[in-house]
Amino acid sequence: RDLTATFSLPGARLWQRRQQVTAVAQISLTLDHGEALGIVGESGSGKTTVGRMLAGELRPDAGTIHVAGQPFQPPFTPDRRAAVQLVFQDTLGAFDPRLPIGRQLAEPLVIRGIDAAARRQRIDQALAAVGLGSGLLDRLPHEVSGGQRQRAVLARALALNPSVLVLDEPVSALDVSVQAQVVNHLAGLARDHGLGLVFISHDLGVVGHLCDRVAVMYLGRIVETGPVEAVFDRPAHPYTRALIDAIPVAHPAARRRRARLAGEPPSLLAPPSGCAFHPRCAHAVAACATSRPALRMVAAHPGHQAACHRLDEV
Ligand code: SF4
Repeated sequence: RDLTATFSLPGARLWQRRQQVTAVAQISLTLDHGEALGIVGESGSGKTTVGRMLAGELRPDAGTIHVAGQPFQPPFTPDRRAAVQLVFQDTLGAFDPRLPIGRQLAEPLVIRGIDAAARRQRIDQALAAVGLGSGLLDRLPHEVSGGQRQRAVLARALALNPSVLVLDEPVSALDVSVQAQVVNHLAGLARDHGLGLVFISHDLGVVGHLCDRVAVMYLGRIVETGPVEAVFDRPAHPYTRALIDAIPVAHPAARRRRARLAGEPPSLLAPPSGCAFHPRCAHAVAACATSRPALRMVAAHPGHQAACHRLDEV
């Protein structure tokens, strides 16, 4: 609730003062048991920062996080820390290249004092959940394929019995066919094990396939959120519409008049006033440059909200 993250950056010249940058401003999200929530947006939108805060890797400057009704903040007990697990895109970097995968899957369990028999059981269950056999436990990370390594990273997180997995671009480095396998495994985990998934991605196609709800971020704020079908079928914010229109469509008959996303996202060092999207928005009016729109309900769609002054017109 109301999560905010600011960073202090050195000035461009030695004698210049450090600059404060607000990477995420007053983000509020909810995630139900067994639900998959997608967080989408361009680079620099703040989605990775949100993921790191949710996983306890980065302490918010303001705001609170609750998991199963309890505050989720340091100091963590080992079990409490395990409740939310973060999985990155870089699977080679996630493993020590010199140690067999099995040893690296066991290590977090050893740290938590889990005995050898229980460790073995948990690792076998986690491998089965992601569709892997125990054959890869003796192999080094570079001796298995990218898809197997990604699933091994997921298995290591799952062995800790988390309530929530935060996945930051977990499939973008994989071939499309392997992406489909991993995404289908993730959907099965959420459905069968009641695991909450926060899926951070710039790939709207994958988010549309996997997620129940989606939050669209622009320059550190949520500009639209709601059930995936509502947001993807009837995007209410001009930015969301442009992101969706950027998804390639193969068949000419399926193409419609498309909104184009002009220019690059503005710098966080000099965010635009009012609605941060106004310099790129084809629908902007004078009020957009001076006053920031709040999230409000999109008519007739429960849970669908967008932050735009011209919601009823555009
Ligand atoms: Fe465009 Fe104005 Fe809506 Fe922002 S508030 S998205 S600038 S119309």
